[in-house]
Amino acid sequence: MTEVDAFLTNCRLADGRLVDIGIAGGKIAAVGEGAAASSNIAPELDITGDLVLPGLVDGHMHLDKTLTGLPWMGHAAGPTRMSRIETDKTILPHLPISTEQRAGNLIRECVARGTTHLRTHVDIDLESGLAKLEGVLAARERYRDRVTVQTVAFPQSGVMRCPGVPDRLDAAVRNGADLVGGIDPLEIDRDPKGQLDGIFAIAARHGVGLDIHLHEPGEMGLFNVQEICTRTNALGLGGKVTISHGFCLGGITERKAAEAAAMMAEAGVALVTHGAGGLTMPPIEMLRAAGVLVFAGNDDIRDTWSPYGTGDLLERAAIIGWKGDFRRDAEVQVAFDLVSTAGAQALGIGDYGVRVGAAANLFTIAASCVPEAVAAHPPRKLVLFDGKVVARDGSFLATPISITAEA
Ligand SMILES: [Zn+2]
Repeated sequence: MTEVDAFLTNCRLADGRLVDIGIAGGKIAAVGEGAAASSNIAPELDITGDLVLPGLVDGHMHLDKTLTGLPWMGHAAGPTRMSRIETDKTILPHLPISTEQRAGNLIRECVARGTTHLRTHVDIDLESGLAKLEGVLAARERYRDRVTVQTVAFPQSGVMRCPGVPDRLDAAVRNGADLVGGIDPLEIDRDPKGQLDGIFAIAARHGVGLDIHLHEPGEMGLFNVQEICTRTNALGLGGKVTISHGFCLGGITERKAAEAAAMMAEAGVALVTHGAGGLTMPPIEMLRAAGVLVFAGNDDIRDTWSPYGTGDLLERAAIIGWKGDFRRDAEVQVAFDLVSTAGAQALGIGDYGVRVGAAANLFTIAASCVPEAVAAHPPRKLVLFDGKVVARDGSFLATPISITAEA
């Protein structure tokens, strides 16, 4: 059999089997009942029957906005989205620690809770230019051996209402942003054609995907879902476009939502949700049944937009399940899929899963099955990234530790 560096023994898989997992060169080289017994030289680390799951995928974050690591600050924004946008500009530039430090603080919290891949939106606006992107990219570089980070150039303040932003979005992609973002083309910009034509042109020019914040309710949001699908088809960007939130899909008639779902599935437009408080939720199961790729993320984590959150994606899956009234095991499994396999597919992570050949990005947890892990979400015992231990007992490790040293 393949030579392995070390075995994790007595690992409970999501399907209930108790197996040994062999790791070699940062990849999973063996998965099988009694696999470790066939090797008498590889070190073994006994997982004692705990559940072993693939690293979690946070499909929607805002690393640049977080206040993680700072003393508590009361929420300062008013009740509207526009008030929060303006509050960002009065608070974030004056914080005592940099974007890079704050992003790093939050990355460590996420890694400690089993996140191995994430997508973060990063504000691109006239006031800060590319500064926040530079900070987030620096944090990504610093933690590249703990987590993968995708960045979205996000026009938080709008595109058409802020002349000069399209050029900065283009510059952001040239300077390392992985995708182009957008925001409420009608409600924020009052110019859906202008914004969507503009951001799709940037994406097409650079061969990158898009991830567009769509908070707009009802028919207004539906109009933009249709416009996004039409442009995705026209530019052949299927599989590379995501709608973030899509609250409208939960606030229109079932017939119209089903038609929108069919259009999204046909165009290859995905949806990312976080089970927002106080707002309608997209009909997750209907969308999935229609063939739409639905995944999830934490969105705001203790930041200028929301005081809540720890970065725990299992807790997020529980919130989504609670909000969606997911009670049966099969439904709770769906909530887990949103923060794992579906997220990996959306982010284009090919070497994913607890299977031979995949990267050894996984975590262990004292739970008997996936629904229990989601519902109770106890601390992650071990988190591995590229086969190295990066967190233990809920705490981030200053230096990744070789599995052979642990065994
Ligand atoms: Zn967001």
